[in-house]
Amino acid sequence: MRVVIIGASHSGLSAAIDLKRLDPEIEVLLIDQQKKEDLGYISNGINLFYQGYIKKLEQAVTRFNELVKRGIIFYTETRVLKIEPQQKIVEYQQLGAAERKTLRYDRLVLATGSSPQQQRTGTQPMANVINYKSRTESQKTLELLQKAQKVAIVGGGYIGVELADVLIKNDKEVHLIDSMDDILFRYFDPEMVQDVEKAIYAAGVHYHPQEFGVQFVTDEERVTALRLKDETIAVDLVISPKALRPNAELFRGVIDLHEDNTVIVDEYLQTSQPDIYAIGDIVPITISAKNVHVFMPLVSRALRMGRAAALNIAGIKTAYSLADCVTLSKVFGYFLGSCGMVEEEAAFQGIDVHTLVCDLPLRENALAEKPPHFVKAKINYEAGSGKILGIQLLSRKPLVEELNSACMALHKPLTLNELAVEMFCFSPNMTDRYNFLNQLAFNALLAEKAVCGEKK
Ligand SMILES: Cc1cc2nc3c(=O)[nH]c(=O)nc-3n(C[C@H](O)[C@H](O)[C@H](O)COP(=O)(O)OP(=O)(O)OC[C@H]3O[C@@H](n4cnc5c(N)ncnc54)[C@H](O)[C@@H]3O)c2cc1C
Repeated sequence: MRVVIIGASHSGLSAAIDLKRLDPEIEVLLIDQQKKEDLGYISNGINLFYQGYIKKLEQAVTRFNELVKRGIIFYTETRVLKIEPQQKIVEYQQLGAAERKTLRYDRLVLATGSSPQQQRTGTQPMANVINYKSRTESQKTLELLQKAQKVAIVGGGYIGVELADVLIKNDKEVHLIDSMDDILFRYFDPEMVQDVEKAIYAAGVHYHPQEFGVQFVTDEERVTALRLKDETIAVDLVISPKALRPNAELFRGVIDLHEDNTVIVDEYLQTSQPDIYAIGDIVPITISAKNVHVFMPLVSRALRMGRAAALNIAGIKTAYSLADCVTLSKVFGYFLGSCGMVEEEAAFQGIDVHTLVCDLPLRENALAEKPPHFVKAKINYEAGSGKILGIQLLSRKPLVEELNSACMALHKPLTLNELAVEMFCFSPNMTDRYNFLNQLAFNALLAEKAVCGEKK
C-alpha cells in the first residue's frame, strides 16, 4: 500500500513515523513545500531562543536523518497543486522546476496545516508588520526583533502573551493590544486571568485591552505608530500573531469543508472522499452533538491525529475524539492550564452551565506540615446532569499531570459526583489524601447542595 502525506510538519510527520512503525511494508511518501532543514519546526522557537533553551532556531526542528532511517520517502521543496480523487493521483511540482508530475496513492493524508495571514494596514504590506510560523518567517522576525526597541503585539492569545513575557524580560518596550476584555479569552474565564493581567502590568508591559479599531500610521513603507482609542503609540515593529488560517485552497471542491475552510471529517479522520484522511490544524475542534466547530491550531491535537490516522490506515480502527482540547502555558510567573469549554462558550451553545471557582490546597504528602501551595481552580459543569464541561487551573507551580488528569475527566466525560470519587493513588509520604480534582468536584457538589437547600 502506498500512502501519500501532504505536509511534513507535526501531524504529517507523526502519521508517517507511526505508519512505518505499525507496518514497515507500507510505502510512505511525504511531500512538503519547505526545505528539509525546516520540517517540523516548533513555531514558538523565538520564545525558546529568548529563554535560552536553544541558541539558534535551527535547533527547534525535527531531526531529519532519523526519519530517513525509517524508510520514509521525502519530496521536499515540492508543492502539491492538484488532487484527482477519482484517479487517486496528486499533481506536484518541485519549486523552481517547470515540469508538473503526478503520483499515485492508495491512501492520501492531508496535513497542510495553517498559515499566518498578513495584517491589513490599510494600504500595501508594510516591512515592519509581520507574522511568523515557519522557521524562515521566524528567522526574519527574530532579526527584526533584535533591531527593534518598541514592539507592539496585536493579539492576546497564547502566542501574544508568551511573546510579551519573553520580550519584556529582554528589555523591549512591549505593547500588548487586544480587542477582547481579557487575555486568553478562548481558554479562560475572566476571573481566572485577572492575577496574570496584574502581573503583566507589574512587569512593565503596556497592556491595551478592548482595542477594536487599531489604526496604522504609516510612512512610505513602514508603520511608525498605532492609533488606539485614547492614545497613539510609536512602534518599531508590529507582530500580529492572531491571524492563522487553515491551508485549504488545495482541496476546495475536492472534499467537504466547513464555511471557515476547515475540513469535515468523521471520528476516524476520514474526509468526504473515500481513502482521503485529514489531520492537524485543518481539522477543527468539533462538538458533533451540537454541530459546533472551532479552528484551534495546537501541536497536541496535530500529533495525536497523525497517530490516529496511521492506526486507521494500518487497519486498527481508532476513533479520535474531535472535541478534546487541552492547553497550558507558563507566563509572568504563573502556570495556566485549561481543558474543555469556558463558561461563555458553554452558555453560547445553549447549555445551562454552572460553575465553581475555589482556591484549593496542594500538599506534597498527607503528613505535610509546611503550609500548602494553593491552586486556583474553576470547574464548569452542566446543571442537572453535573457533566463536567471544562476545568481551568492557575498556579505558581507547574501542574502538568494534574491538567492531564482533568483532561481525562472531561474526555470520559465524568460528572461531578464521579470526579469527586475518581481513583487517584495514595501513599502518605508521596500524595495528599485526596487529589485536588476530587476536592474541586466535591466542593461544587456542596455548593449545588447549599443552593438547592436555600431554594427549599
Ligand atoms: C508563533 C506560534 C507559536 C505556536 N506555539 C504553539 C505551542 O506552544 N503549542 C501548541 O500546541 N501549538 C502552537 N502553535 C500552533 C502549532 O504551530 C500548530 O498547531 C502546528 O504547527 C500544526 O501542525 P500541522 O501539522 O497541522 O501543520 P503545519 O505546522 O501548519 O504544517 C503544514 C505543512 O504543510 C505544508 N504544506 C501546506 N500546503 C502544502 C502543499 N500544497 N504542498 C506541499 N506542502 C504543503 C507546509 O509547508 C507545512 O510544512 C503555534 C503557532 C504559532 C504560529
